[in-house]
Amino acid sequence: MPTEPTTRHRVAFIFPIYNEEANIDLLHRTVDEVTAPLAGRYDFSFIYVDDGSRDASLERLTELGARDARVTVVELSRNFGHQMAVTAGLDLVDADATIIMDSDLQDPPRVALELLEKWEEGYEVVYAQRRSRRDSPFKRFTASAFYWFLQKMAAVEIPKNTGDFRLVDRKVVDELRKYRERDRFLRGLVSYVGFKQTAVLFDRDQRHAGVTGYPLTKMLRFAADGILGFSTTPLRMITRMGYLISLLSFLGVLYVVGVKLFAPETAVPGWAFITIAMFFLGGIQIIMLGVLGSYIGRTYSQVQNRPLYTVASVRTGVPETAQDNRSAAR
Ligand code: UDP
Ligand code: MG
Repeated sequence: MPTEPTTRHRVAFIFPIYNEEANIDLLHRTVDEVTAPLAGRYDFSFIYVDDGSRDASLERLTELGARDARVTVVELSRNFGHQMAVTAGLDLVDADATIIMDSDLQDPPRVALELLEKWEEGYEVVYAQRRSRRDSPFKRFTASAFYWFLQKMAAVEIPKNTGDFRLVDRKVVDELRKYRERDRFLRGLVSYVGFKQTAVLFDRDQRHAGVTGYPLTKMLRFAADGILGFSTTPLRMITRMGYLISLLSFLGVLYVVGVKLFAPETAVPGWAFITIAMFFLGGIQIIMLGVLGSYIGRTYSQVQNRPLYTVASVRTGVPETAQDNRSAAR
């Protein structure tokens, strides 16, 4: 009995747009071209999220929507930032696989096909990892310093040299929707959620037109979101500092006792008490700050209100046929 092609997967693209009027048409044309050969196998759709652009981006998008029925245009009421724009797209999307991409053609659309191939192999998160990037030396330096720091500090492994350019399975999207923290660092959340993840290497291009929507201040804020959202190391550093200073006061005591015993003639009266008391009190105060810090850390992670865990699958002793159905349903 011939079976209907029920396995036509739905694949959606999410494009955050902030002042990209000069990129939108080329972007859509390129994505359209790249995906056209696969149109027989997949149902493609394109979600453009206008993040309060001040140029003609929204007009361009509206025109695009009028020409292409696969296009959805989401207009945010003001500029909420890249991460929020992508979140708005993720909240709306309804697809088996979702590809998140920058809209300035720095993320080459043809790489999306490689992401799809990996997804077909069974990976639920496929992130595009930069083999090289053509940004200013300053951007390259700050980015690599940031990822170095993040790797040292974060509680989950966040792959370096990745942006938000990635493919996520429907399961991952469903999970991500449960994470409602305000200071969002999506690529960290995707790592945090887990599932089978893999990388595809690519060479990052230059921005096609327009200017970056991430000036230095936004970049620093973003970096702070990444580190503070996934690490309480800065808080723990307080406690360590407290112990260090206390240790100094202890060494001070040893030194003073040593001087009194072995070279009493060199002892300066009054010096020892003040210095040791200073280090001692300083140490106690900082340790107490650390105690406060560890409660704040707990309060913080409670307030983030993340799901406690994510279940990838539940296996019971089902007969083989049911298992076959399950893998066919994907
Ligand atoms: N973007 C956004 N809102 C913002 C800033 C940026 O939606 O407030 C979008 C932007 O249109 C682009 C993506 O986020 O599609 C990445 O931004 P950009 O290329 O400016 O960052 P960079 O590549 O310089 O880090
Ligand atoms: Mg860019």
